[in-house]
Amino acid sequence: MWKILIPKKIAYGENAAKEFDYPENALIITTTESKIYEKWIDYMGIKNYHIYDKVTPDPAIESIETIKNEFDGKNVSCYIGLGGGSSLDVCKYLSKMTGVPKILIPTTFGTGAEMTTYAVISFDHKKKLLQDEAFLADAAVIDPYFLPGTPFNIMRNSACDAAAQASEGYDSKLANPLTKLFCREAFDILEDAIINDKPDLLPYGAMLSGIGFGNSSTTLGHALSYVFSNEGVPHGYSLSSCTTIAHKFNNSVYYDRFKKICQKLKFEPLKLNQPLDAAADVIMPDRGHLDNNPIQVTKQDIIKCLDEIVNSNPLA
Ligand SMILES: [Zn+2]
Repeated sequence: MWKILIPKKIAYGENAAKEFDYPENALIITTTESKIYEKWIDYMGIKNYHIYDKVTPDPAIESIETIKNEFDGKNVSCYIGLGGGSSLDVCKYLSKMTGVPKILIPTTFGTGAEMTTYAVISFDHKKKLLQDEAFLADAAVIDPYFLPGTPFNIMRNSACDAAAQASEGYDSKLANPLTKLFCREAFDILEDAIINDKPDLLPYGAMLSGIGFGNSSTTLGHALSYVFSNEGVPHGYSLSSCTTIAHKFNNSVYYDRFKKICQKLKFEPLKLNQPLDAAADVIMPDRGHLDNNPIQVTKQDIIKCLDEIVNSNPLA
């Protein structure tokens, strides 16, 4: 048997966020500053709402509890997560705690978080990847309206993440015919968007990638990437070399095409401060990613991959 979970309602395309019906007395949760989100809320036509705009990157459980207490007894009808991954993850966790439904609206496109049952929350300053069916959006709204104004670096990292997720998800041991369908279509669209300079296609591609990998999983490329993220490299950037080398190791059908995408986005090679052996020790316990890799991976394999990432230029 195969099972696939997607939000109850998905609205996407031009004007999706404008034409969507929002309930009154919603709580909007965002990371952005007021001069930007006021314009967004005006476009969306949301009336009589509360707002919480102090979400920070890598949200911690304490800040989620703060929001819960602040809006307790205010009869909030639903949460509207408006922003990047952090705003959406806060909404997901809060909704699981309170049972209040959630509408997720990404304004940067890549993680596909609006489609998945995953959330990344920090406990004791450590990021934890959580999965729960209760994290699934009641509605997801994907509108390219939010795309202009996204800084180039954020767009480039997000596009790389979406393409890495689609191709790793396709190869995952947990993939099934339906997730492969989503991953394949997602990659085709993202590739067209990046190679042929059609950024308007990114939101739709990222959305399909989210459905595909969100119901299978990412694999070796993501496992390798976290030691670079731990040293401060943005997630999407670290995937450029890591997923390329992982695809080479796995003999993936996406190796050449993924590498071309990274070349087009002009990613620089990666550096690692810690010794490769120590990094491999950090990566090996990440069974969530490694066990779903199509080929079994040993510590020696990881060291070899890391060596290729930092000592040769995988994108040359
Ligand atoms: Zn990712």
